[in-house]
Amino acid sequence: MILETFPVGPLQCNCTILGDEQAREAIVIDPGDDVSRIHKRLMEQGLTLKQILVTHAHIDHIGGALKLKRLTGAPIYLNENDLPQLEMMAAQAAWIGVGTPETAPPDGSLVDGQTVGLEHYSAKVLHTPGHTQGSICLHFVLLNLLIAGDTLFAGSIGRTDLPGGDYGQIMDSIQSRLLILPDETTVIPGHGPQTSIGRERQSNPFLTEM
Ligand SMILES: [Zn+2]
Repeated sequence: MILETFPVGPLQCNCTILGDEQAREAIVIDPGDDVSRIHKRLMEQGLTLKQILVTHAHIDHIGGALKLKRLTGAPIYLNENDLPQLEMMAAQAAWIGVGTPETAPPDGSLVDGQTVGLEHYSAKVLHTPGHTQGSICLHFVLLNLLIAGDTLFAGSIGRTDLPGGDYGQIMDSIQSRLLILPDETTVIPGHGPQTSIGRERQSNPFLTEM
């Protein structure tokens, strides 16, 4: 298995490449920016990109998706509840003072309970609204790995003050969908360092003061 996570763009969104060394296939999660770097890593390792999966449609997570699709032909998947975010891309770009990336409607939705990813490294989609209405996490059950987008961070949770955000909802999503996962589940958040479900359950101040 090839698993590489690196920060991209001015907001340092964690982009992940997950590859199958035998099948020479890969998926990319959250190609927010730095598409030439992502593409170069795929080429260097001889990986064919099968899917572009986006945890939510904030600019720092989806900004490079269409460019990567054009380079590789891979389809883009995004939960349909975040389509309104796509339509706000110019406003999102203005918030952080960057140019507006070109976007297009996704090729398919990421629906709760759906299985996505590679044949040997598949993930279950967990719809976890609250940061945005279409925020999802990807649970790679056999890898004990959760890609959490901006729902859960090491020691923090996603902000809920932007359009589509809802504090009660993100807390409910984390409690009912994420904290029920095994303690040893590795969490790769949308920004910042890795953590685990057990560590966050024990020490995340947003989750222990309830
Ligand atoms: Zn976000």
